[in-house]
Order: sequence, then structure tokens, then C-alpha cells
Amino acid sequence: MVNQKGGVGKTTTAVNLSHGLAQSGMRTLLIDCDPQGNATSGFGLDKSKIKGTLFDVFKVLTDNPDEPDSILSDVTVNVRENLDLVPATLDLAGAEPLLLNAVGKEMILRDALSVVEDKYDWVIIDAPPSLGILTINIMGASNGLIVPMQCEFYALEGLSQLIKTIDIVRRRINPSLLIEMVVLTMVDQRSKLTQQVMEEVHTFFGDKVAKTLVPRNVRLSEAPGHGESAVELFPSSKGAMAYKELTDEVLKLCAGR
Ligand code: ADP
Ligand code: MG
Repeated sequence: MVNQKGGVGKTTTAVNLSHGLAQSGMRTLLIDCDPQGNATSGFGLDKSKIKGTLFDVFKVLTDNPDEPDSILSDVTVNVRENLDLVPATLDLAGAEPLLLNAVGKEMILRDALSVVEDKYDWVIIDAPPSLGILTINIMGASNGLIVPMQCEFYALEGLSQLIKTIDIVRRRINPSLLIEMVVLTMVDQRSKLTQQVMEEVHTFFGDKVAKTLVPRNVRLSEAPGHGESAVELFPSSKGAMAYKELTDEVLKLCAGR
């Protein structure tokens, strides 16, 4: 989930899509790659009781590149059936200075993930609201990007910067990287502005725009406060239904790959 703008629905999409995939029987790993740790608290993990976080993965692999296997499993916790989580806390903000002089600093997450490829059907990574080294690591490690976009006036602002970053990563680090899907979030069908933004996004991205529209729905913002995903806590809410539909759309899009 990438978009350097904050508050566009990255974490909400990461949490509900990964839980949706897990509920569909897919072995899923969710990686919280944002120092704010919202995906971590979204599953009710008590941050003071966590054994290790994604920061430890970066730290250990910077010092000792031979241990991706053990360190990733050391910090992975099982949170629901079929769903594992690599948590994040504020210490992840220290990754940037830590990695400053590390060789191959853009590839550390990819390195770490190479050892779990066989264990999971899906790995979903929640990005921070920036285009710094954490997001570059995500782009280096991913097969495809999902870009959540909030249907508001400035939705397309900053897009050229995002596309430029993706182009550079594709050129230098990960040649097969692409935007797999753009997800419109907080959609209010009655609003003229929403309609206008939807048209603009469609003009720009064409058939990359997900058919599923995620409506503005208060249940989606309430669920994290209970430490649960909306698809689990409020399964019949409009928001949860949209994320279940999105899960099916993602599964269909990637079927047979
Ligand atoms: P990001 O990870 O991009 O910063 P979040 O997923 O944290 O964005 O969403 C920002 C805020 O908006 C959160 O408080 C979240 O609960 C709320 N939110 C996200 N999607 C919706 C939605 N479809 N309807 C209502 N509230 C939403
Ligand atoms: Mg977030």
C-alpha cells in the first residue's frame, strides 16, 4: 500500500484486505512498515509486549546480512487464523539514520522476505506517508503496488512525484515493479466532488482503478479502536462488505500468477 499522502486509507486497506485474504484461506503476512504502527494496533497488539519489530529486522540485517531467516520469524506474530504480522513501533523511525551507510540499503526488506516466500500466499506491506528509505524498501520488495486514494480535492496532488519514484525504482532496483491497482477510498457517491475526482483518476489510470469503491463508512474508523479489523468486527457494514469485494477483486486479478 503506497501513497506518500497520509490519511488516504493505506492502513485501513492493508488491515482489511489482509484479513479478507486470510479469511479466504490464503496464508497471509502483513508487514507494518510505518513507525506510527497503526496496522499493529489495528490488530490489538499491545506495543509494550511485543518481542521485536520490523526495526529489529533492519538492524540485524544491517549488521549481519546472513540471518534473514531467523530474525524475520523471531519478530513475526500470529494474530488471526492464516494471518501473521510483523509489527512496527515508533523505533522504526530510526531506520533512516541506521541505514544511511548500509550497503544495499534499499534491498534489505526484499532480502528478509526472500526466506518466507514459500510460507505465504500473500504478503501485504503497509507503507508510511513518505517516499523515504522505508517506502523504497517496500517498492524493492514488492511484485505490485496498490495505491489507495481518497476522493478529495487534492487526490492527484503529489502523484507525479510518486510515479517518478516508481520509475526510478523500476530502473535501478526492481524492473518488474508496477502499479497493480488504484483503490478509491472514502467515496461519497452523492458528492459532486467525489464524482469529479473519480473521473480524473479514471482518466489518469484507466482500468487500473479497482471496480470496488470503498465508501466513507464510520465502522471502518471505529474497528481499529477495538483492536480488530472491520471485516471481522462489523462484517455486514458497508465498509467491510466493500473490502470483502476488494479482496475478491484482488484474488481474481492475480489468479493463476
Ligand atoms: P493512511 O494509512 O493512508 O494514513 P488510514 O487508513 O489510517 O490512512 O485512514 C485515515 C483515517 O481515516 C483513519 O482514522 C481511518 O480510520 C479513517 N478511514 C479510512 N478509510 C475510511 C473510510 N472508508 N470511511 C471512513 N473512515 C475511514
Ligand atoms: Mg497508515
